[in-house]
Amino acid sequence: MADYVIPVNSECTVEDGLTGQQLFSECGGLTYNDFIILPGFIDFVADDVDLTSALTKRISLKAPLVSSPMDTVTESEMAIAMALCGGIGMIHHNCSAEYQASEVHKVKKYKQGFIRDPLVLSPAHTVADVFAVKKEHGFCGIPVTENGKLGGRLLGMVTSRDIDFMEESRDAQTRAVADVMTRLEDLVTAPAGVTLQQANKLLEESKKGKLPIVNEQGELVALIARTDLKKSRDYPNASKDDNKQLLVGAAVGTREGDKERLSLLHQAGVDVVLIDSSQGNSVYQVDMIRYIKQRYPDLDVVGGNVVTAAQARNLIEAGVDGLRVGMGSGSICITQEVMAVGRPQGTAVYKVAEYARHHGVPVIADGGIQSVGHIVKALALGASTAMMGSLVAGTSEAPGDYFFSDGVRLKKYRGMGSLEAMSRRDAQGSAMDRYFHSEVDKLKVAQGVSGSIVDKGSVLRFLPYLQSGLRHGCQDIGARSLTALRAMMYAGELRFERRSPSAQAEGNVHGLFSYEKRLF
Ligand code: GDP
Ligand code: 5GP
Repeated sequence: MADYVIPVNSECTVEDGLTGQQLFSECGGLTYNDFIILPGFIDFVADDVDLTSALTKRISLKAPLVSSPMDTVTESEMAIAMALCGGIGMIHHNCSAEYQASEVHKVKKYKQGFIRDPLVLSPAHTVADVFAVKKEHGFCGIPVTENGKLGGRLLGMVTSRDIDFMEESRDAQTRAVADVMTRLEDLVTAPAGVTLQQANKLLEESKKGKLPIVNEQGELVALIARTDLKKSRDYPNASKDDNKQLLVGAAVGTREGDKERLSLLHQAGVDVVLIDSSQGNSVYQVDMIRYIKQRYPDLDVVGGNVVTAAQARNLIEAGVDGLRVGMGSGSICITQEVMAVGRPQGTAVYKVAEYARHHGVPVIADGGIQSVGHIVKALALGASTAMMGSLVAGTSEAPGDYFFSDGVRLKKYRGMGSLEAMSRRDAQGSAMDRYFHSEVDKLKVAQGVSGSIVDKGSVLRFLPYLQSGLRHGCQDIGARSLTALRAMMYAGELRFERRSPSAQAEGNVHGLFSYEKRLF
């Protein structure tokens, strides 16, 4: 026998790495980058991995992805895209209660392919106005109603062909839309209640580009664009309620005025509310949770933010259906620097999830998610879902317009505790709630910064990439589902290892003069 072959004896073990419990009891506060997960055994294909996970006690999602209630991240467009892809969006509250409720309403009333709030002109508008719309929004198929509003009696439609040959001349300044539009008698319209298939057929037969939808009184209620029908895909994993409407969440504060906000959100059909506070362990939040549970027993409430089991205990006792975990780990956040309070996110997620699972309360890992690998890690530490700010900011569905800086296409992304976001304070002072506890705070102390983020295209393309990445991560670990992943971690089967700074450097691209990082 060659002398390098060492005989196997019964003492020999394949056990390696640390359990979750060992990792977090031995290694102090850890961020996602501070540890790595050891691979397991693969006996299934990645497509078989089930990503179903709980958002709250009663709401389950097909994809564990949540967009953050920030005014540069989630309004209705983002919430619709998140829900179509199996996740959920939380509409921010740095706006009036009426505006927030109307954004919730848009998500609940969303029907794929239908433009519910089309831009509308009146007959008195000019051709120059049409050019202006085209310049700003990129389309020129515009319905014309008596009063220039959605809900007004439909009179006709201006299409690109009506103005094709009209330069932006002086004539355009004076020429009324009524003169050039295609009149109602030449339009193909559909009655309210038409299905997408019927609309498809009508557009196919008529060869028109737009299909205005009118009610029995001839009033415009929606519009369908041929381009959207061509694009429209099936979203079999969309997050929907029992009425087949998309799920949506919304953030609220803990002030008296938030009770009115809650009432409007409830009327608009919100499925879950989230109490937005950077330090959720407060008497104000406990009172608000009790109020919501007593007043709206059917509405799920997410409490937070918390980073310790002791904080979580108070909110769980008050009746929360989910917990949002994270303090100071967000990309735009300076809480840890300014307040000296917070916790590294890996440890926060592990500790809170470990406590909350004994009470059946799911945990949302909020902040500090920079890559799909961070989501895998958050879920492996016991979180049920991950909340993203920067990861989905800069997409076409995020609120705000793109702008250019040094030739790069950017969108604004800012902390809700940044001075800029706080100055958008509305009459109720909603945005301030998260970062100010006292009515008498006079001097603003920022807990976040304001910046910009590179154009990322549409979340409708990005979210499928995230889900695919999650499936591959679970496959490498040997977990067929997120439930199995958590079970493996709590059984001590999932093994972790601490990463030294050089291990972290090794785990990133290194040694290249230049490279391009394309993710999908
Ligand atoms: P058009 O022929 O110039 O009107 O442009 P297209 O029909 O090719 O594209 C219009 C795109 O803009 C579609 O994807 C619409 O869903 C989208 N869109 C969003 N809001 C509106 C709106 O208010 N009116 C119209 N016409 N399109 C809108
Ligand atoms: P990101 O995904 O960008 O790393 O973090 C987003 C999260 O940061 C949000 O969901 C929210 O919890 C937190 N956050 C948002 N704005 C601020 C802020 O101004 N200050 C702090 N401390 N946290 C913020």
